[in-house]
Amino acid sequence: SAGRIVVVGGGFGGAACARALKRAQAGLQVMLIEPNKTFTSCPFSNEVIAGLREIEAQQFGYDRLAAEGITVAAQAATAVDAQKRSVTAADGATFAYDRLVLSPGIDFHFEALPGYDDAASEKMPHAWKAGAQTLLLRRQLQAMADGGTVAIAIPANPSRCPPAPYERASLIAHYLKTNKPRSKVLILDAKDNFSQQRLFEKAWKELYGDTIERVALSQGGRVTSVDPATRTIITEFGNYTPDVANVIPPQRAGRIAEIAGVADHTGWCPIDPVTFESKLVKNIHVIGDACLGGGIPKSASAASGQGKACAAAIVALLAGRAPETPRLTGVCYNTVAPGYGFLLAGNYQPKGDIFAEVEGGATSPVDAPRELRAREATEAERWFQIITADTFG
Ligand code: FAD
Repeated sequence: SAGRIVVVGGGFGGAACARALKRAQAGLQVMLIEPNKTFTSCPFSNEVIAGLREIEAQQFGYDRLAAEGITVAAQAATAVDAQKRSVTAADGATFAYDRLVLSPGIDFHFEALPGYDDAASEKMPHAWKAGAQTLLLRRQLQAMADGGTVAIAIPANPSRCPPAPYERASLIAHYLKTNKPRSKVLILDAKDNFSQQRLFEKAWKELYGDTIERVALSQGGRVTSVDPATRTIITEFGNYTPDVANVIPPQRAGRIAEIAGVADHTGWCPIDPVTFESKLVKNIHVIGDACLGGGIPKSASAASGQGKACAAAIVALLAGRAPETPRLTGVCYNTVAPGYGFLLAGNYQPKGDIFAEVEGGATSPVDAPRELRAREATEAERWFQIITADTFG
């Protein structure tokens, strides 16, 4: 039979893809391999860090996917044999596929940040995968005395959700303003410019005065190493020993991509943007944060759209039809305080080997009344309800 699809990773990309495959063609055998029985969403996890939301509101199971006929294996994929077309799971079981979809999200590029590793993340949390790390950073903020400094180390792009570090800085500033008003947020940034910068900076001035200080790349803000024993962050400019150190390391595709041979020297996975098939290994498709998407920011909305487009392409390929050219949308909401949000929406289409932005995008105006900020904060919550119901509900 030519209808066995294995999907690795049950996040925004993988779960959306598995679901779309089964819905498009009930006869397909769709298997989802995901080690966690409960998925914890990164979108809105900055609210959890700031004490504005409980972690349970971030968590979703796979019961509905199973009820739709998707076989869910609660395992991590540990190996891929592209010749035999099979995936091996941590418990040793192997699963044959006609097409394999990888949506493993990100892993950290520890070699690019000397001193940082999994053990260091217990002292200097990244909180860039949601769950225990999110709660650890929240506890550290709660334990900090008033007058302390919270440092956020931000990597260069490409990385998962480029505006999210600045949203985090904003919501941490909100927490401090409300609970520990003599405290500061120090951003150590490996970039000079960032997504929606003017909107963020205007909001910071309006809401938080000089609570947030940012050291940009050209001022020496790039973090070159860390020392977890002393909680020291070393930059091109100098050393910092903040009271709370949120270190977001440089990233690359989830490790299974490298194991499968689909990641290149950049650490990300080159694909054909029409089918999401790997440029390096046949019959393996890569979606979500792990793929080299070009102009499309790594986001949950992009991963979900890619999952659905990839499912449609696989159904077409299995039927011997030419796949349609996908048109993807990415919406990115940022909440900088309760009731204060703004958005960036873009449309993307294949151009050569990547996605390029096409017309029809929108961004919130820099000068806007508070009512618009309030409306866009509400829309952000609505967006979260819709995408999580669409993916898991
Ligand atoms: P993920 O959703 O991370 O899913 C990957 C899954 O693969 C995981 O469940 C993992 O357990 C599994 N996996 C990994 N390796 C294996 C393996 N070997 N075997 C089996 N399973 C495996 N995006 C937005 O659109 N809007 C937002 O507001 C937003 N806010 C964010 C805020 C923060 C703080 C962060 C960090 C991110 C935010 N994002 C946001 C980005 C969004 O979380 C990611 O872009 C999105 O999750 C990518 O989907 P994915 O499927 O590629 O990866």
